[in-house]
Amino acid sequence: MNVHLLKVKWKEGELQQNTYVVEQKDGCILIDAGVPLEEIRKITDKPISAVMLTHAHFDHIEYIEEYDRLNIPIYASIYAERSMLDPSLNVSNMIRPKVYHVSRIYELKDNETIKLGEIEVKCLYTPGHSRDSVCYLIGDKLFSGDTLFSVAIGRTDFPDSNEKDMIDSLSRLDKLEYSELYPGHGRVSNKEEQNQNIKQWLNILKQF
Ligand SMILES: [Zn+2]
Repeated sequence: MNVHLLKVKWKEGELQQNTYVVEQKDGCILIDAGVPLEEIRKITDKPISAVMLTHAHFDHIEYIEEYDRLNIPIYASIYAERSMLDPSLNVSNMIRPKVYHVSRIYELKDNETIKLGEIEVKCLYTPGHSRDSVCYLIGDKLFSGDTLFSVAIGRTDFPDSNEKDMIDSLSRLDKLEYSELYPGHGRVSNKEEQNQNIKQWLNILKQF
């Protein structure tokens, strides 16, 4: 299994998003949809069997309609669609309000495992940064969206953020077994680094 990181640089401010291509022998899946298909095709011409959304903030779903038009199945939490359709929840109202329409979302339950070709993906519901936030565990690799970064955690000051949920989600990830961390922004990390990072942020969050 190969993981390719595609960094998207937004014109607006310093915002940068990580979309991942998880490639196996016969196909690949995308974690988030921050890049257009033509960027994926520079890396691989293998069929895309799914787009897995970590959450529906605009920087993670900007090209989701393009993949939907190609009939590529979209997986996300049960709360993602409501965010896609509301600029205050997908936070596109911070730069230019936008809604995103897709034909169907396959809604994932907490702890649900799906098999996509040779790739098994386990969905962990981790609200806090947003109500629709999930992490995906693929083998020993954790794709954490904006819940967890290499040396930080996701913001909890958005309309559907929840600090209490963030504490619960981080505590859960703290106990989880994995080796590599692939976050929605910034550089790649690992479990060892997160043993420190998560505890440090849990201490800060619990002070308030
Ligand atoms: Zn976000």
